[in-house]
Order: sequence, then C-alpha cells, then structure tokens
Amino acid sequence: MSALLDEATRIARQFDYPAAEVRRGVAEYIRQMNEGLTKEHTTLSQIPTFVTSVPNGTEKGLYLAVDLGGTNFRVCSIDLHGDTTFSLTQSKIMIPRETMSAGSAKELFLFLARQIESFLRIHHNEHFEAHIRRRNEKNGNCEEDLFDLGFTFSFPVRQLGINKGTLIRWTKGFDIPDAVGQDVCALLQSAIDELELPVRVAALVNDTVGTLMARSYTSPGETGTFLGAIFGTGTNGAYVEKLDRITKMQTIEHSEYDKTTGEMIINAEWGSFDNHLSVLPNTVYDQQLDADSINPGVQMFEKRVSGMFLGEILRLVMLDMHRNESLGFLKTSASSDVSVPKTSSLYRQWGIDTSLLSLVEADKTEGLEEIKAALKDHLKIERPSIADCKAIQTVVHAIGKRAARLGAVALSAVLIATNRLDKGDLVDIGVDGSLVEYYPNFEGYVREAFREVPEVGDAGDKRIRIGISKDGSGVGAALIALVASKEDARMKAQ
Ligand code: ADP
Ligand code: MG
Repeated sequence: MSALLDEATRIARQFDYPAAEVRRGVAEYIRQMNEGLTKEHTTLSQIPTFVTSVPNGTEKGLYLAVDLGGTNFRVCSIDLHGDTTFSLTQSKIMIPRETMSAGSAKELFLFLARQIESFLRIHHNEHFEAHIRRRNEKNGNCEEDLFDLGFTFSFPVRQLGINKGTLIRWTKGFDIPDAVGQDVCALLQSAIDELELPVRVAALVNDTVGTLMARSYTSPGETGTFLGAIFGTGTNGAYVEKLDRITKMQTIEHSEYDKTTGEMIINAEWGSFDNHLSVLPNTVYDQQLDADSINPGVQMFEKRVSGMFLGEILRLVMLDMHRNESLGFLKTSASSDVSVPKTSSLYRQWGIDTSLLSLVEADKTEGLEEIKAALKDHLKIERPSIADCKAIQTVVHAIGKRAARLGAVALSAVLIATNRLDKGDLVDIGVDGSLVEYYPNFEGYVREAFREVPEVGDAGDKRIRIGISKDGSGVGAALIALVASKEDARMKAQ
C-alpha cells in the first residue's frame, strides 16, 4: 500500500517545476519572444494582427461575426451598448461533410454566405430590406449601411492586413485544395457580393485576440486589457506590443494600417514556445505523449499545458503504475483481479478527458468518494482502493500544477518584456478556456509562480487582475470589426 504511494510521490516529483526553473523559463521566453519580433520562422511566431487599439467599453453599434473552425459554423450579431454590456443573437449550422472536403472554395464560401443571408433575414430583416430598397433606388452599392463583419477563421493563415490573410493549410477535417494560398476574407466577400448582402468583411480574427478585445470591452473601470490568454483545448496568448519593437514589420509583406496609436496586438502562438526543449521540463511521459502524437516535436509548450494533453499525460502515468505488478495499483487486493475492464478507455490513446483531472483535484472528502465516482464514470474502474485514489490525486495535482506554472512563465515573460509592471498601474488580463475556468485553483498556482519571479514578485502580483473573458469569437470579433471599420474610414478620409 505505501509502496504505491511512494511510487506516486516519486512520479509526481518528476512534474515538480521549481522556482529556479520558472525563472529560467521566463528568461528564455523573453529571448524567444524578442527574436520573434525581429524575424519570421522563429519558434514563437509573434504574428502581427494589424489591430492597433483595444476597446474601453464605450464602443457602440451593431456588428456581425462569423466563426469557422469548429464543428459548427456560427453566425451572430452583436449589439454593443456602449456601457461595457452587449446583447448577442446567434445561430449555429453544421457544415455538411461534402462541403468541408469534396467541393471547391467557391462552394464552401457560398454556403457560408447563404447562412449569413438567412441569419439576416430572420434576425435583421428590416435592415436587410431597407438596404435592398436603397440599393435599387441608388442603382449602386450604399456603403454607409453595410454591416461590418468580423471573421474568426481558426486555421493557419498568413495575415497580411486587418482583413486580409492567406490560408496556409487546412486542418480539422477540412480539405479544399483550391482555397490554399488564397485570401479567405476576399473569398468570403465575393460570395457575399454574389448574393448581394449588405455586409463588409471588415476583420480577420484570431480567437486569442478576440478574447483580449472582449475582455477589454467588458472589464470594469477604464483600464484597457493588456493580454488575452486561452487555456482550453489548446493554449495561446495575444498582447499589446509597441510598434517600434515589432521590427520585422519592415520586412514582411502587408497592407496599410493605422500607426497613430504606436501599438499593435501580437498573436504570440505560444503553444510552440521552446519546441527544441531548451528549458521545458521533459518527463518520460511527456516524451511518450509526443512520440505517439501526430505532430512530434511541435507545440511542445501546449503539450504540457493545455486541456487536449493533460488527460493523456495522466493516462500514461496510470498505465505505467498499473503495469508495475508489485504496486497492486487498480487491482482488487483479495483475488488480485484486475479492476480495470479491457474496454476501459484507460487503454485507449487520448482516453482520459482533462475534466477528470479537475474532478480528482477537487475531491476533499475523506473517503475520496468523488474520485471513485469519476473513475467509474470516465474509465469503468470499479472499487478502487483509497490508496489507488490517493495515488491518482497525487499525480493529478502535480500535472495540473506544472501546467499552471508553465502558463505563468508565458504570462510573466510578456509582462516583463513589455515593462508593463514598471508603471505601477493595474494590469488587466482576460482568460478563456475550460482549464483555467474549471481546474481548481489554476489561477492560484499561476499567481504562486508569479511571486517567485523577482521582476513580478508580490508587488507585481497584486497589480495583476485576471478575469474570465467569454466569447472572443462573438463579441471579440465584433469589436475587431468595429476598430477595423473606424480605421478604414479614417484612412479613406486622409
Ligand atoms: P475550446 O478550447 O475548444 O474552445 P474549451 O475551452 O471548453 O474549448 O476547452 C476544451 C478542453 O478543456 C478539452 O481539452 C477538455 O478536455 C478540457 N476540459 C473540459 N472540461 C474541463 C474541466 N472541467 N476541467 C479541465 N479541463 C476541462
Ligand atoms: Mg474556446
């Protein structure tokens, strides 16, 4: 019995990520981050987004947003009330399999435009009809009453302007070869124009940038948000950078953008921080997960931090302990019957969902009853012993805490490199994703690590405000469309 707990403790210790390592990680993150601002093809992509200001909560108006990249295509309209609140109307449409892969780019984007059309007819018919009337009267397009639309497109794109970006490759089951290399905003706009809809594709949106914008609009007080971070299926962050630090802008191809604010939001793509493992921790379980993944050697930070992977790390540890006969882990003691049925997803790659870790970490009951129930629900494991449950809890705690501390590395590095904590003001961070929202004390572990980094420390930690920011691809996308349309109007006036 105690051999099992000793072994669990020994394994958990491999996931320790001590203060000295956090500090080393921060220094390396700052180095890779600054490198990413100077040139392309670096581990941290540091992608310029062409969004050059963040909202303060007084923005007003009705905007459209669409989101392509999940199981459903989402269309919504967002009414920004100008007082940090908004109302949102939405519809979700399953994309037919043949549209995702068999057809042409034109068919896909016409399908999307038709969904926008029916959404407008259902929810904004008056505006729609009025537009058609005016267009017929004027015999032309009337720019002034177009809806501005923010397009969240969650595939790899090369962004060339606020509403311009070419598709690098499809992922997630999409496969329409003739779209690759094309500007996805232009594709959507021409489909919209073919249907004569009163819509202008104003912005190409990354969900992390949307998270930052949504938080900045809804956050209390006048402080604009500095950073948006996602800890969900994946992990990524976006933050406000000084334009003169983004020296690679001079060498990359791009269209015009507003330079008056002196700032631009950078999409860090931090999931690929330190792919070459110069500072990231690397247990045998991390190595095994990576080797068995479809993309070995990439997204190495994400593979230690995000919801898609933490369950799998736990599964590999549990299998390892289960195979070690002498520990009797998950074996009913009396008959030494295996209490894990062959059909348990413990034996299947990706078979443990990270929500199990949240349940295990949360159980404070004496008999660990919640862990037992969760093991039965998730893995069909019957009658685990108290020692089994304790062993699992020990390991889970270590995996979850390491993830949060790694998250703190990225967050504190960005704060330090941008000198945000020097001014003594409040720094606002918007976060989204099930891991940060539901994993018990995730933020607490992040803050513990903050305090261990001298340049942040107690004083810095107290000035950092972290708030949940929901719906980056809805309200966030709307806000980016708003900023984009204002910039567009300003540039036309010049
Ligand atoms: P997405 O990132 O796709 O927008 P979410 O933010 O909901 O969606 O993140 C989904 C990820 O979070 C999945 O990897 C899932 O395993 C994990 N997850 C879901 N529920 C929880 C939970 N209660 N605690 C921790 N992780 C969770
Ligand atoms: Mg999400």
